[in-house]
Amino acid sequence: MIDVEKLVRPNIQKLKPYTSARDSHLNGILLDANENSLGSVIENNLELNRYPDPAQTALRTKLGDLLSIPSNRLFFGVGSDEIIDLLIRIFCEPVVDNVLIPEPTYGMYKVSSDINNVSSREIPLDEEFQPDINAILKKVDEKTKIVFLCSPNNPTGNVLDKNKIERLLKSFKGIVVIDEAYIDFDYTKSFQDLVEQNNNLILLRTFSKAWGLAGVRCGYCIAGEKVINYLFKVKAPYNMNKLTADAILHALDNVEKKSSFIELLKSERERVSTELKSLEIVEKVFPSSANFVLFKISNAKNVYNKLADNGIIIRDRSSQLNLDDCLRVSIGTREENDKFLKTLKSIV
Ligand code: PMP
Repeated sequence: MIDVEKLVRPNIQKLKPYTSARDSHLNGILLDANENSLGSVIENNLELNRYPDPAQTALRTKLGDLLSIPSNRLFFGVGSDEIIDLLIRIFCEPVVDNVLIPEPTYGMYKVSSDINNVSSREIPLDEEFQPDINAILKKVDEKTKIVFLCSPNNPTGNVLDKNKIERLLKSFKGIVVIDEAYIDFDYTKSFQDLVEQNNNLILLRTFSKAWGLAGVRCGYCIAGEKVINYLFKVKAPYNMNKLTADAILHALDNVEKKSSFIELLKSERERVSTELKSLEIVEKVFPSSANFVLFKISNAKNVYNKLADNGIIIRDRSSQLNLDDCLRVSIGTREENDKFLKTLKSIV
């Protein structure tokens, strides 16, 4: 086990966090937080005049039961994007420390690092979009605090090889973040079983994809208790708002609905991939374990613009490392996918 404490920025180690009376008292005559006891201007029984529970207790307990994870290994954020930022702020001293980002991948690891003035080192994924562990270890120095990985990777769609992750965990003594935003689409490939033996491993998850709740802004992470405690130390006191928390508690009672979405999206993904492969202009369709498909097509920019002119918005990924002429399309409803395919065929 790694001494995670030693990786934390000294000012965060010493930080005296904000405290609230609600840390210990959630019920009673609540005259501690300068709220409006008369109610809220929106009339309903949601108690929106009250601050939400800073400890996220109901959320953590309910999700913990669902995932069979102790609640002290869970932390909720305003989307997983908030957690990416908090992790950089906990572990990376601006200007001094660095993070490693195997590319191409999700853009926010770099953006969050840049915002925090933490340098990021780009390492190319190999030709199968797997991390090159030797190259990562070569780039690591004593100031490398975090390696960001994403599985299934956005925008390539592939899951990462477990042997490689285990090798990295054996050799790298910093924090390893694996973003599992799309793991619901192939849950058997989750790295959840590695968290218990590796207190430097942090898994990010989100309600924005398979759960269909991008609008409520909720993500969570699974990590060792020490990391979770630091996340609570640095977060804004009431980051999980009441409306979001209520929506998520409700969602956790509707797991079957999520499963039915996943089945449908996966079958549509296979249909879209097959159709794309049949087009001569499409040079490659990358296998996907997520709810999107990456494909390589001649003159991608032009195709992207023409689709947009026809009201079909996909993502041009051709400026990312080793993704020349690659476009990424999210899997939509059957009708949306049909329209996308029909329009694409008419363009080419
Ligand atoms: N991680 C990955 C890999 C993503 O693709 C996205 C959204 N595109 C996020 C995180 C952000 O998730 P959230 O909505 O929970 O902030």
